[in-house]
Amino acid sequence: MSNINHYDCIIIGTGPAGLGAAFRLIQHNPSCRILMLDRENFSTGGLRNDCKMNFTFPIGFPLDNWSREEADCYLEQVEGILKPDLMPKKNLEVYEKRAETLGVELLNIRQTHLGTDGGLKLIKQLCAELENRGVRISLGEEALDVIPDGKRIVTSKGEYSWDHLIVAPGRHGFQYLQKLMRSLGIYFIDNTVDVGIRVETRIEQYPIVRDYYDPKFHFPGKVRTFCTNSGSAYVVQEKYETRDGKPFYSVNGHAWSKEKKQENNLVNFAMLKTIRLTEPLASGHEFAEILGLQAALLGGGKPIMQRVGDFRLSKRSKESTFNQDLYNFEPTLKNCTPGDLSLAMPSKILRAIWKSMKQLDTIIPGVLHPGTIMYYPEIKMYANKPEFLDRHFRVHDSIYMVGDGAGTSRGITAAWASGIRAAEGIIKG
Ligand SMILES: Cc1cc2nc3c(=O)[nH]c(=O)nc-3n(C[C@H](O)[C@H](O)[C@H](O)COP(=O)(O)OP(=O)(O)OC[C@H]3O[C@@H](n4cnc5c(N)ncnc54)[C@H](O)[C@@H]3O)c2cc1C
Repeated sequence: MSNINHYDCIIIGTGPAGLGAAFRLIQHNPSCRILMLDRENFSTGGLRNDCKMNFTFPIGFPLDNWSREEADCYLEQVEGILKPDLMPKKNLEVYEKRAETLGVELLNIRQTHLGTDGGLKLIKQLCAELENRGVRISLGEEALDVIPDGKRIVTSKGEYSWDHLIVAPGRHGFQYLQKLMRSLGIYFIDNTVDVGIRVETRIEQYPIVRDYYDPKFHFPGKVRTFCTNSGSAYVVQEKYETRDGKPFYSVNGHAWSKEKKQENNLVNFAMLKTIRLTEPLASGHEFAEILGLQAALLGGGKPIMQRVGDFRLSKRSKESTFNQDLYNFEPTLKNCTPGDLSLAMPSKILRAIWKSMKQLDTIIPGVLHPGTIMYYPEIKMYANKPEFLDRHFRVHDSIYMVGDGAGTSRGITAAWASGIRAAEGIIKG
């Protein structure tokens, strides 16, 4: 027998899914030996960005995996640990009424918003709490091979053995998960993907955010608003790589809290369309990669941005477009190429999103101001759907897969809930 270190549970990833599992396990058994690994030199994945948390089903909960009862039950536990300070909402009836006449739904969601700086504080606090309770968190250590015989894992720094393994590597671990599922013979499909744009405009053009921080509109045609940021709000880009190492980008958004940064009076939010490839069944991830590469090609290796005014006139945007009097704010994502969305986006996605934008402009007049910017692409990589062996996201003997990478969540609170659910599977076992 080798002298490699042994843990009751090893958790790959220190994002909310991993944290949710660790807290539940250590709460159940304070002497449980837990190792959390993260390939980054800092902790907790997506909690670092903006950190607005939604505490109402179905936000963040893929319906394939969650019923309302299950989600509500776990959300109560998530709230117990995260103790959110819920934000008030105003004038909802006005927007709801306008939306209803167009066949659009405005979801009334319990939310909190910490901002990127608030998220960082929360991470520090959560990790310190876990470490105080004896959990070992190893940063800058990448999980590589999982060897089910002998229950071992090889990392960039060593080798360990485990009784239970929870794999929670997030959206950036999408390919790692697929490789792992193939090597373990776990059946999965990944035929669903969300693709769309990020809209950036002045707060006067989208004043609803003063009444409802992250308004969730659901439009006909499987289009929805997603991840709204305001106050001190910025559009950012995330880098991804295709399986053969080609880079492509997805835009995203975040905001700092008022305490950290002066407001820039801008708002950004995503308009996403869900695509499900069924006949023939095809990989949504590969489809998204192709779209990402196409956008990167047309954008000279950067995302594309277009002003609504140009789009309406069927003209591409140019550097000069961003200097005219109607275009009254600077894009917050500087590393972006003025261009033409219609050249880059599949028509079905573009038409559905533009139609929804027009509906949104009827509900909140002003959002389609000529100066409003549309950034492309925004892609959400949470399409993996492993075949689970039970309701606790077990995929193989004592291996569990959870979080955005495994398709059990699409946001912080649901990722956390997924981690708890896996932990409860271990506890039951
Ligand atoms: C810019 C941005 C803003 C966002 N804003 C919000 C928001 O406001 N509200 C919200 O609900 N959601 C938001 N999200 C989404 C949210 O962050 C995710 O839904 C959530 O973090 C998913 O949790 P997770 O634990 O599955 O994965 P992650 O949080 O991504 O964590 C996975 C961790 O695993 C690590 N990892 C990956 N592969 C390996 C490996 N092989 N070995 C070791 N470690 C590995 C990663 O480094 C990462 O730290 C945002 C995402 C982004 C990118």
